Amino acid sequence: MIFSRIIQLVLHFSLLVSFAVTAQPDSVLLISIDGFANRYLQQYPAANIKKLAQEGLRAQSMQPVFPTKTFPNHYSIVTGLYPAKHGIVENNIFDADFDAIFRLNKAEEVTNARWWHGEPIWVTAESQGVKAATYFYPGSEAAIKNVRPSYWQRYDGNVSHNDRVDSVLQWLDLPGAERPRFLSLYFSAVDDAGHTYGPDSAEVAAAIADVDQAIGRLLAGLSQRGLYRKVNIMLVSDHGMAETPPQQVIELDQLFNSRDALLTLWTAEIVSIFPREGKLDSIYQQLSRSLPPQAKVYKKTSLPARWRYRDNNRIAPLLVVPQPGWRLIQQKTAAKYQQMAAEGKTSGSHGYDNQSDYMQAIFIGHGPAFKAGSTIPAFSNTELYNLMCRILGLTPAANDGNPAWPDTVLHSTTGS
Ligand code: AMP
Ligand code: ZN
Ligand code: ZN
Repeated sequence: MIFSRIIQLVLHFSLLVSFAVTAQPDSVLLISIDGFANRYLQQYPAANIKKLAQEGLRAQSMQPVFPTKTFPNHYSIVTGLYPAKHGIVENNIFDADFDAIFRLNKAEEVTNARWWHGEPIWVTAESQGVKAATYFYPGSEAAIKNVRPSYWQRYDGNVSHNDRVDSVLQWLDLPGAERPRFLSLYFSAVDDAGHTYGPDSAEVAAAIADVDQAIGRLLAGLSQRGLYRKVNIMLVSDHGMAETPPQQVIELDQLFNSRDALLTLWTAEIVSIFPREGKLDSIYQQLSRSLPPQAKVYKKTSLPARWRYRDNNRIAPLLVVPQPGWRLIQQKTAAKYQQMAAEGKTSGSHGYDNQSDYMQAIFIGHGPAFKAGSTIPAFSNTELYNLMCRILGLTPAANDGNPAWPDTVLHSTTGS
């Protein structure tokens, strides 16, 4: 009698142990579709993306941080910090202490941890014993706080979508101890088409169809593995896209004396001016007088407070910011835009005010952690770091998110 009771207990215990070993602990797959404007969800067909939204949870929109560029926003998503705090204040950054310039295509700087402040989710994960894998993510190629994801890739925009998806599926096939619980997947095709042809183009429609097909392949692969309802998918974009007709250009270098500047970092949507000693006011005065109403010059000290874009030496003393749809250019490129106008071509841009409708991004959550079937109000992408920490059971590093925000999207049982 006692003997059979012992057997019963042993069986019960081993069942419990085997359940604990085989149960899939919560994981997060962060998918970023660069430049996928919130309005594209209504504008274009995308069966797989919409299926995720319908079965899961979506936000009315997700607000990017200023400036609405790729690197600042991707890094805010994974750190919960505003750019002034995480240090990636633009796609092009000058740091006077390093006397160096960071650009997306300068691999030696992008891979150098000195630029990347704060703590991205994969560092939080790895340092708390959770493996991370990134199939491309800004920052993942640098050893931030001396930590890289267990699995990561050098950025190569030529890798096919299917190869990216298949690698993520292979990571999920790894045996328990090696399997990552945080994974990322990144696509740039929609942003690339939006820049070259404008947001309302057949090319953007085709790029969305391509990315949607890749997501369909991913979902089929998850289903085959019995993981479709087990992995928590967060589908996001970094910012939207505004049409920039070629007539809407401002030849900014004609409007101030460029010799008064030590350095000017040019992009169409935000120009950062580092004046020579004693020249700040004269450049500011020249530009205040001569800029058309579609662009504004700001002293760093009087930028709109809601941008939270001030307390960092990498932010230039003077910034010029145009209205969405307008482009700041140097005279030497003017002919290119005249030619485009003559040919009836258009294009697209982002980087503008993060309150602009055109710049709003997407958020879709799908999986066991999310309250299914709801649409939540717009929120800032700085909330996502706390959300990922909650799902993964990690203690978050200090960040700008509201620690209570994840409760609005998660089942009450998720996380600690
Ligand atoms: P943007 O200039 O803000 O439109 O940046 C978008 C571009 O950033 C994409 O077309 C990519 O080629 C590039 N990009 C995205 N991720 C990375 C990365 N991890 N490393 C280098 N370049 C990247
Ligand atoms: Zn982007
Ligand atoms: Zn872009």
